[in-house]
Amino acid sequence: MFLSPFATEAVMTIEAAMTPEAPVIAPALEMRGITKRYPGVVANDHIDVEVRPGEIHALLGENGAGKTTLMNILYGLARPDEGVILLDGRETTIAGPSDAIARGINMVHQHFMLVPVFTVAENILLGEETMAGPIFLDRKEAHRRIVELGKRFGFEIDPEAKVGSLSVGWQQRVEILKALYRDARILVLDEPTAVLTPQETQEIFAVLRRLAQEGHSIVFISHKLYEVLDIADRITVIRRGKVVGQRLPSETDEDDLAALMVGRNVQLTVDRGDSKPADVALEVRGLEVKDDRGSVVVQGVDLDVRSGEILGIAGVAGNGQDELVEAIVGLRRPSGGRITLRGQDVTRASPRAVNEAGVAYVPADRHRFGLVLSFPLADNLVLTDYYRRPYARGVLRNDQAIEASAQERIREYDVRTPSATVRASTLSGGNQQKLVVAREFARDLALLVLDQPTRGLDVGSIEFIHRQTIAKRDAGTAVLLVSAELDEVLELSDRIAVMYRGRIVAIRDGRTADKNEIGLLMATGGQARAAAPVAETGPAA
Ligand code: ATP
Repeated sequence: MFLSPFATEAVMTIEAAMTPEAPVIAPALEMRGITKRYPGVVANDHIDVEVRPGEIHALLGENGAGKTTLMNILYGLARPDEGVILLDGRETTIAGPSDAIARGINMVHQHFMLVPVFTVAENILLGEETMAGPIFLDRKEAHRRIVELGKRFGFEIDPEAKVGSLSVGWQQRVEILKALYRDARILVLDEPTAVLTPQETQEIFAVLRRLAQEGHSIVFISHKLYEVLDIADRITVIRRGKVVGQRLPSETDEDDLAALMVGRNVQLTVDRGDSKPADVALEVRGLEVKDDRGSVVVQGVDLDVRSGEILGIAGVAGNGQDELVEAIVGLRRPSGGRITLRGQDVTRASPRAVNEAGVAYVPADRHRFGLVLSFPLADNLVLTDYYRRPYARGVLRNDQAIEASAQERIREYDVRTPSATVRASTLSGGNQQKLVVAREFARDLALLVLDQPTRGLDVGSIEFIHRQTIAKRDAGTAVLLVSAELDEVLELSDRIAVMYRGRIVAIRDGRTADKNEIGLLMATGGQARAAAPVAETGPAA
């Protein structure tokens, strides 16, 4: 096997360290006493973490615990108020992301950091032109290296494939390749599996294991405890900015990690109880919806959701679920079919009209549809009803009422923030999600539409939102739940509809549904000899 000069050096160091007389090798990365204060919050409070060469080190912590802040400090995006960073035992100052990259530190972002209309190679080389300086980039050589790197880590990739045509799992590989292309020694993966199917996750894990074998150090951030137990060599848990414990996967389990993270015992699965479905609240007939490119992505969909029941939609991401819910909440005009809410035709209703008819919506993309990041939290909490009493008196805002309601919801939903006046952009990702949920769950509803409601949330927050969802159902709300997490759909749904290539291919009872059968339906649509589903197709196929 061909090893890069760095990998060869790392292997030699590891081998040397194994001989009895050898000195103990320095960690690849050591962060000592890292402290970072923001107004009203200590995001990192004297954090110590070390990552060895060839180690996969998981960083766990509830929403707002300070994981992203710590990694931003490592990547030079934020300056610590106190503390030092050591690379290979040498104290280092990291001036910014390009300095971090030059020192072999790379962030592997989720797929949306890539430019969809660019090819794999163009995305990987983005920014390299400037780094290459006056020397012109040898594209042929670059392509050769990309293919070779892919092979070395177990996948074949076509550098000419357009990134937009790749499944999210393959886009994730492109992100990893981009880091490897820059000779990364330390890779930080911030929730890399949030949008992946279990199978794609396993494929990415295989890549990560190979990277570790070659001596790379990996910092892995995830809220999925079973994944952390599966992939990590060591686990560091942070709570409210402080390290509260370190574990080896062999000496812990999900309950222990959850309790350590949240500071109390967490019920990892909720009891959904019995539902009492009443009249049909949402009726969808023959619905056809196109995506932004004009392709029909929802075809002939018929659905009923009754008041007092949760209908879950299971499906591999990208099979038309997002477009279906966007049509239901008025954000996307259907090209055919009919949507009725409590007997009222809302097929072409505006988002505001749908909202006023009693529909709440927690979108998959909270930045695009859920929040105005530059607005304070209090304003975000009244985005859909700022013009109504008690938040408005005629044309005037009632700031007192807005502030009072914000305080109450922030407390009830445990949104971690120093105050209701800070901008939504300063919240951690999970707390932004809780803010959207706090707004949307707040009133009496006819229909609650949830698209990936717990993506990026910690176990304590998931428990809370699942309970609230069931409470809404028990209060007579019809709930439409879309989730790429099959376990979440199985746990919460009274009925499950499987969506495949824009169609509902099966409906099952939520209490008796078989996980394997649903998984198979998601992957094949129920046709025994079906080709691989769209979202699974790799670029080299
Ligand atoms: P999540 O799992 O939700 O992504 P996290 O562990 O990554 O959470 P951080 O994003 O590091 O959490 O946030 C830690 C704390 O620091 C939070 O209270 C957050 O509101 C605060 N914070 C982070 N960045 C800023 C900023 N630029 N200005 C003000 N406060 C900030």
